[in-house]
Amino acid sequence: MEFVRTLPGHRSRIGEGPHWDERNNCLFYVDLLQGTLYRSDTLQQNEETFHIENSATTFCIPYESDPNSILISKDKQILKLKWDTKEATLLAEVEPDVNTRFNDGKCDPAGRLWAGTMGLETSPGIIDQGLGSLYSMDASSYVVKHLSGITISNGLAWSRDSRIMFYVDSFPRKIYALDYDLATGSIAKQRDLVDFNKASKYSDCGLPDGITLDAEGKLWVACFGGGRVLRIDPQTGELIRTVFLPTKRITSCCFGGPNYSDLYVTSAYYGLNEKERSQDKDAGAVFKVSNLGVTGFAASCFAN
Ligand code: CA
Repeated sequence: MEFVRTLPGHRSRIGEGPHWDERNNCLFYVDLLQGTLYRSDTLQQNEETFHIENSATTFCIPYESDPNSILISKDKQILKLKWDTKEATLLAEVEPDVNTRFNDGKCDPAGRLWAGTMGLETSPGIIDQGLGSLYSMDASSYVVKHLSGITISNGLAWSRDSRIMFYVDSFPRKIYALDYDLATGSIAKQRDLVDFNKASKYSDCGLPDGITLDAEGKLWVACFGGGRVLRIDPQTGELIRTVFLPTKRITSCCFGGPNYSDLYVTSAYYGLNEKERSQDKDAGAVFKVSNLGVTGFAASCFAN
């Protein structure tokens, strides 16, 4: 039986983008709408931060060649950040004429960045539909648009053999599978893997959000509004396990810690009023789930 621990550190408006960095033995994550990156030790007792005023920053992925360099998003831009000097260099920018921002991003097993966009919220939870797209960016900062018509571009993961990409659009409550060509970084044959609207077992799961893969090739899916992460068999689409968390707005997850035996789970207090927040001390926390009986593996860094 797993053990869920609420870590004592920062409470995020929207915690997101967890990435375990084994070279520094720490967890990177962002407080998305606050424009703040966190680098946190395993018990979250020591957190270093980097803040970008008035911007959304949604992912943070270390460079393969240099653990001091981090690939981050800032609104519609992708930047290289030197963690020690806090010097940021613009690498790419998308959608200059559209009211959007980046959302979740991950690197594929070859170290290419994949990241999608979404429309800006006109009020909490209200988003223009279909404004988002999905992009990749290679080591030379060359950006390719692969999909459009996305509403809330979210979690990304790749099968253990790299032949399938998993991708979430939260708004239609779907996890897609796509054929993946690792050599060229191209996708094909998009199909529904899981549709939260199609089965009653997902009715109180909220929206699928961030995802990660374990060492057995099974998917872990954070459920925004559902207070849980799900373990799903991507071969069959079957729900095989549920881990409940003590707050509802669960945003993303990644494996980390010794032998990648812990699941780090991020959450949000965004959308709660003051009374609800005072009654939900765990909202926005990072959770560490241990004793799962399954391990993960290192997430890909950005290859450059
Ligand atoms: Ca997300």
